[in-house]
Amino acid sequence: MEDSALSATETQTQPEKYEYNAEVKQLLHILVYSLYTNREIFLRELVSNASDALDKVRHEELVNEKVLDRGKGLEIHIDFNEGDKILTISDNGIGLTHQEAIANLGTLGKSGSLEFIKKLTEEARKNINIIGQFGVGFYSAFMVGKELRVITKSYIPEEPALEWRSDGSGTFDILPSSRKNRGTTVEIHLKDDALEFAGKDKIKEVINKYSSFVAFPIFLAGKRINEVSALWARPKNELKKDDYAGFYKFLTNAGDDPMFHIHYSADAPIQIHALLYVPKKNFELAGFGKIAHGLGLFSKKISIQTECKDLLPDYLRFVRGVVDSEDLPLNVSRETIQENALFNKIKSNVVGKFLGHLQKMAESEKEEYLKFWKEYGRILKEGVHTDFANKDKLALLLRYNSSACKDVEELASLKEYVDRMPEGQKEIYYLCGANRKALEMSPHIEIFKKKKIEVLFLLEPLDEYLLGSLREFEGKPVKSIDQADLDLLKDLKDEEGAAKETIAEEAKLDKLLKHFKKVLGSKVSDVKESKRLSDSPCCVLSSDGASASIQKMMKLVNQDFESGPKLFELNPKHHLIKNLAEILETGKNTDAVDACCLQLFDNALMMDDLISNPREMVPRLNEMMEKSTDLILDKFGRGSIIITP
Ligand code: ADP
Ligand code: MG
Repeated sequence: MEDSALSATETQTQPEKYEYNAEVKQLLHILVYSLYTNREIFLRELVSNASDALDKVRHEELVNEKVLDRGKGLEIHIDFNEGDKILTISDNGIGLTHQEAIANLGTLGKSGSLEFIKKLTEEARKNINIIGQFGVGFYSAFMVGKELRVITKSYIPEEPALEWRSDGSGTFDILPSSRKNRGTTVEIHLKDDALEFAGKDKIKEVINKYSSFVAFPIFLAGKRINEVSALWARPKNELKKDDYAGFYKFLTNAGDDPMFHIHYSADAPIQIHALLYVPKKNFELAGFGKIAHGLGLFSKKISIQTECKDLLPDYLRFVRGVVDSEDLPLNVSRETIQENALFNKIKSNVVGKFLGHLQKMAESEKEEYLKFWKEYGRILKEGVHTDFANKDKLALLLRYNSSACKDVEELASLKEYVDRMPEGQKEIYYLCGANRKALEMSPHIEIFKKKKIEVLFLLEPLDEYLLGSLREFEGKPVKSIDQADLDLLKDLKDEEGAAKETIAEEAKLDKLLKHFKKVLGSKVSDVKESKRLSDSPCCVLSSDGASASIQKMMKLVNQDFESGPKLFELNPKHHLIKNLAEILETGKNTDAVDACCLQLFDNALMMDDLISNPREMVPRLNEMMEKSTDLILDKFGRGSIIITP
């Protein structure tokens, strides 16, 4: 690449002037003023661009007849000139055409980067672990350079060479260049406070830190400084934890170690090497939006696609790593790769292996698995609904809190649930709600407590929907407890304990039920004696089959959503219900019975988070309290009130 850096000033042509678009201007401002502390990452970004350019030209050489400089060794060269304070990074990769230079070095390709950086606080911007993972790209060179020159020639033989120049303010120039060979040279005219980057030791240190796994030879002042080795294709027993961690950091720009990795090779049914990583943190939980990475796809250690998103289903989008299969043709186009039959085989192989590994982990490294689940469970369980083929495997990986867990931290698998089921229990039961406390107090759960039946607590909004798409586990239907068929529980033994007295005469109860139905009118479809309650006076059930949590979701989506009339159940063993039956029997004070009836109904709605207008009931409650305090005074005598002077 001897003649690569010939500058256009030798010719007499006037430069063409262009303006950066607004986004780039903003990014440049942020880069120069706030990322100051980790500016060494600019070298990683430029080497990564050189490596991408080499990958691309290797691909062109396979699919395209007319490629300039075909067959030359693909290399990256870093040189410096301490005297002139210039650092250059050169490659003989794909190069840029005139049009590409304007488009790619004048606008922001990754529209997300700027948004992301803008969201970060000043403090976070200085944190390499965060910023580094999102790649700030080519423009990061302005953190150390007062001027950049890019001298480039495209692999397309008839495209003329050009020079791009900018001082990082608002504009850039494009001039013709006499460069003959294919590739790109980025020339950085260093700022006075960045002269360390014109020295061998510093460059070597930074390359070792960030770019040691680059798949092309890197030369520093003519001497090879990196070892090219495809880690994933090496035998497992040759590799140490540090090797894996180092490659992970290179691959993801992460500053910390991964949570765990999976490395496997196979020859049948397909030839494959795969190295998969799960990062320690789920960035989606931190509010950074949906993860959009992919796996590196290789054939015989040669990159086919750097971030292949289709290699994993959406619900495994947090997995990072590389997959290499000799069986994939190298000249397959990046656009049509998904249509390759083999591609799908590779995909199902990778998914199967990954889920299999999780399964093993869940069995033999419980703690580790729970750590994984707490971070990624939310994403993983989407698969229950979307990956029909792996539904059974995924079902084994689900974890929920349940009434049998000692606290909200403990989680149970469906398998554990089924193993704990008492003889005679035919279904798996769950209840949804925002927190464990509320669910434990729900009237619906009383009969399950009494029969010592475990109930899964679904605490996340989509849980019911996802578990619902499972339909059954090991042949046992999965049911919300407010929709359970209580006849199925008939034969299960009750917990020991003193049985409570019920309303003695059936006629009395019947009268109360009928009266309640009349008072509640169109709010209820029916009022019935409850088989599920033991401590609460009453509860509501939907009469159209939608569970309480589904109704709540509908209400969230549509404010005006009105769930249909309710089935209202009364507990005839409850003291209050017995009192009301007695009062009704006397034929007097029916007003009080009516008010209690309305209030009981509202209370039941409240227990299910279904109350639509709590303001209506407050005056009623106030009036009831007024009356009951009157009764207290009547009983104990008004004269006993002490009025302080
Ligand atoms: P990214 O690499 O994520 O696309 P960058 O900001 O690093 O974003 O680079 C912007 C674009 O500039 C690249 O996509 C590529 O088109 C072009 N580019 C940068 N460096 C080179 C290079 N060495 N050879 C060819 N093209 C390059
Ligand atoms: Mg880049």
